[in-house]
Amino acid sequence: MANAMRASSILTIANDIRELIAAGADVANLTVGDFAPDQFPIPERLRDSIQASLQRGQTNYPPPAGNPELRQAVRDYVKRTQGMDYPLECFTILGGGRPALYATYRLIMDPGELVVFPVPSWNNTNYRDVCQVRTKMVPCRAEDSFQPTADLLRPHLRDARLFVLNTPQNPSGGVMPKSEVEAFGHLLVEENERRKTTGEKPLYLLYDQIYRSIVFPGYQHYSPVQLVPECAPYVIHSDGISKGYCATGLRCGWIFGPAAFTRKAIALLTHIGAWAPKPVQVGTAEWLNNQPAVDEWDQNLISRVRNRLDVLYKGMQQIRDAGHPVDIIEPQGAIYLSVRFNLVGRKTAAGTVLNNNEDIRKYLLTEAGFALVPFKAFGATDADDQGWSRASVGAVSSEELQRALPRVQQALADTSPA
Ligand code: PMP
Repeated sequence: MANAMRASSILTIANDIRELIAAGADVANLTVGDFAPDQFPIPERLRDSIQASLQRGQTNYPPPAGNPELRQAVRDYVKRTQGMDYPLECFTILGGGRPALYATYRLIMDPGELVVFPVPSWNNTNYRDVCQVRTKMVPCRAEDSFQPTADLLRPHLRDARLFVLNTPQNPSGGVMPKSEVEAFGHLLVEENERRKTTGEKPLYLLYDQIYRSIVFPGYQHYSPVQLVPECAPYVIHSDGISKGYCATGLRCGWIFGPAAFTRKAIALLTHIGAWAPKPVQVGTAEWLNNQPAVDEWDQNLISRVRNRLDVLYKGMQQIRDAGHPVDIIEPQGAIYLSVRFNLVGRKTAAGTVLNNNEDIRKYLLTEAGFALVPFKAFGATDADDQGWSRASVGAVSSEELQRALPRVQQALADTSPA
């Protein structure tokens, strides 16, 4: 297992960028799946509540399942925002979204069992390596905004123990349509009814909705449990404050799903010590309970993220209309856009031929100060990424984006057929 452990490939890219910036280059850094605190600070009320709880000396171990006030607050929040009424025992609080994903892989699957996930998708290959499971990685299509469909996954689920969905999605920015979420709910019920007759172990869905609240007008987020309540025994939801409240460094997330699963997750995570820090738990409970403030924050964050994505979307459309081989998918949710630079086989002014997505990434970075992460970092192969990359706007201002677009257009104009 240790041999399989690799640091994030995105971090290697981050090093290249640091070097360029240190050398004085203007770089639009669209690589980080994070919020820069100067662009996107956490809600003031959340910060004040955490500070106050620290002042009150809330610094010892939290209960293993999480502070009772926070469990209750999350339960109320799920009911209020998604209409799902789970008993309290179905919730546990953890140190962000990652422990939820790790615990689910660990607890649902034995080594060698099969997990199915779409590509591109975030971090699943790493959980595969930690848990030593088999994978079926299903390539998704640009015309579906790189979201998987039930029809694409269905043929692979018969032998699987787990499949993983994430909407709004990292890296594509796609939001799964209601009809597909519903189709996945029915699929879970049907497959598990079949297994009841054969005695096979159930099929579970890990449903990662960490970007749930960042959805743009015209799109809506659903859980399959909202649409097909009978699938609830097989769905494990993962969520947290990292993205919706720009609080990646505070480490607070939660799982909710079948009570029997949650009990095991609490035990496992207690041994790992993956709790959320106690003052953060106390502050988060107060914050989530403040419905008017949360609603106002959500609307405001959506418009700030959307403004940046729109600059990029419109700018790239103009570049495409000027005849350059680029493509871009409309903003739907999260903090990402799928962009395509279809430059394989083209020659740069220096006479080098761009052979693959990595060459394209380096070219755009050095010539245009435009830093992207190719879908290859999200499990895609060169054959199926076809020049598609992720652009993340959590660490850039609209002005930085405005400045970068003419540089991109010039870098494209400087290439020619090889
Ligand atoms: N799920 C997805 C889809 C993510 O993009 C991330 C963060 N990049 C996480 C989960 C984990 O977030 P956290 O920082 O809370 O561990």
